[in-house]
Amino acid sequence: MAKKLPKTTSDSSLSPLPSNFASVTEQVSFETRVSGKKRKAETTIDATKRIKKAPAPSDKPEDAVAGAEATPRPKRRATKEAIVKEETIDDRDNGKTLIRNNKSEDESGDDGAKVKKTTTRKTRNVKNMAPIAERTKDTKLRVGAHVSSAGGVQNAIVNLISIGGNAFAMFLKNHKKWESKDLDPEHANLFIDRCKENSICAADCCLPHGSYLVNLAHPDPERKKQAYGSFLNDLTRCHKLGIRLYNFHPGNANATTREEGIKLIAENINQAHKDPATGGVITVLETMASLGNTIGGTFKDLAAIIELVKDQSRVGVCLDTCHVFAAGYDLRTRETYAQTMEKFDKEIGFEYLKAFHINDSKAPLSSHRDLHARIGTGYLGLRAFHNIVNDERFHGLPMVLETPVDVIGEDGKKTEDKGIWAREIKMLERLVGMDVESNEFKELEAKLQEEGTAERDRIGGQVERKKIKDANPKRTRAKKQIESEDVDDMED
Ligand SMILES: [Zn+2]
Ligand SMILES: [Zn+2]
Repeated sequence: MAKKLPKTTSDSSLSPLPSNFASVTEQVSFETRVSGKKRKAETTIDATKRIKKAPAPSDKPEDAVAGAEATPRPKRRATKEAIVKEETIDDRDNGKTLIRNNKSEDESGDDGAKVKKTTTRKTRNVKNMAPIAERTKDTKLRVGAHVSSAGGVQNAIVNLISIGGNAFAMFLKNHKKWESKDLDPEHANLFIDRCKENSICAADCCLPHGSYLVNLAHPDPERKKQAYGSFLNDLTRCHKLGIRLYNFHPGNANATTREEGIKLIAENINQAHKDPATGGVITVLETMASLGNTIGGTFKDLAAIIELVKDQSRVGVCLDTCHVFAAGYDLRTRETYAQTMEKFDKEIGFEYLKAFHINDSKAPLSSHRDLHARIGTGYLGLRAFHNIVNDERFHGLPMVLETPVDVIGEDGKKTEDKGIWAREIKMLERLVGMDVESNEFKELEAKLQEEGTAERDRIGGQVERKKIKDANPKRTRAKKQIESEDVDDMED
C-alpha cells in the first residue's frame, strides 16, 4: 500500500511570471551591467575564441562524459572503444557547444585582461532574459530542467525563468574539477533575491546535482577524504542558498565490495548529516542505469543505503526515468508502471521519493546504457510520461528534464535550443488529464516516436550486437574489460 507522501510546504514556485518579462522572442538577449553601467548584449558568440585556452566548465549533465574524456583513459579493446564513442559523441560535441555558449558567462577564463574583465562582469550580472515560454501558474506539476549556473548560481534563476520552468537542477560549482572557489556571497544573495522576486521557493523546487567526480564508496582514505570534502562543500552551499534537496550519484564499488561500498556511502551521509554547516539539507540518492559495479542500479541497493542512515528524515531518492528503464524497471504501460511503482514503494518506500529526473531513453529496457532522449522519442515513449504526470501521488515533487537540447544548424554546427525544454515542459503539463485514446494523444505519440526512429534503431542495434557478443564465450575477455571500466561511465 502506498505510503503518504510528505506534503510540500509551499506552492509559491507555481506563482505567475512577473510582468516585467517580455513575451516570447526568438532572439535571446540579456541585460548586463558593466561597472555600474547598464547595457544590452545579444547572445554570447563574440567571446568564443578565447575558450581554447581555458575551457569553461560545461554546465549540463550530459557533458559529464565529455569531462571524463578529458582524463587520459587506459587503452581498451575496440569493442569498448566503440561503445564509449557512441555514448559520448553527442556529449562531446555538446560540451563544445556549451563551452561556446557559456563562454561569456564563465568566470574561469584567463585570456587577455581586457576581455576577461568585461566577460566576468557580464557573467555576474546576467539580470534578465526574455522568456522563451512563460511559467505556468497553478499547475499541478513542478516541471523544469537542469539549467546552467555558469557564472554563478544566481544565473540559474534567469535560465529557469526563460524556459518557463517550475522546478530546476543546477551544478553548485564546477562539477568536473576538485578545486572550486568558495561560494561568492554576492552570488548567494543574488540567488536568494531572484528566487524571491520570481516567487520561486528553492527549498521545494530546486534539486542541485552533485559532482561526477565524487565516489562516496571509495575505501582509500585519501580518495575518501577528497570525495567527502566535495560532498560536504555542496551540502553547505545548499544550506546557505535555502535549498532543501541535494541529488547525487551514490557511487561505485570498483575498489571494494558492493556491501562495503554501501556501508561507506551511508557512513559519509551520516557524517555530513552531523555537520551543522549542512543544516537540514536532504541527501537524495539518484537511481542509476548501470549494473557492473555501480551502486544504485537497483531499488534494493538504495534501500540498503537508507537502512544504514541514522537520520532517515534527511535521506531520499530521485527516480531517473531513463536510468530505471535501462536498469530493467518498465514504465511504459499502465500495468508495468504500476508494478514498478509498487516495487519502489515496497523496497524503498514512497516517503523517500523526493524528485524525478524526466528523460526518455535512446536504449531499450534492461540495456544498462545511460542515453537520454527527448520526451516521447525514445524507447520509453510518451505513455510512460503520461503515467507519471497523471500520478497524483507525485504532484508537487520536482521533475527535472535532462533531455538533450543540441540541434544542428544550417551551417552543420551544433548549437543548443533551450526552446526544446520550454516545449517539453508545456507538453508534460498538457498531458495531465489527457485521454490516451484521444486523437490528440495518439498523434503526438506517433509524431515523437517518428522523430526518434533513427536514434532508437542505431542504439537498439548496438545493444543487440553486444548481446550476441556477450553470449559468445570467446568474447568473455572483452566483456570483463567492459565491466571493469564502469568507473569511467558517468551518468546523469
Ligand atoms: Zn545524475
Ligand atoms: Zn539523472
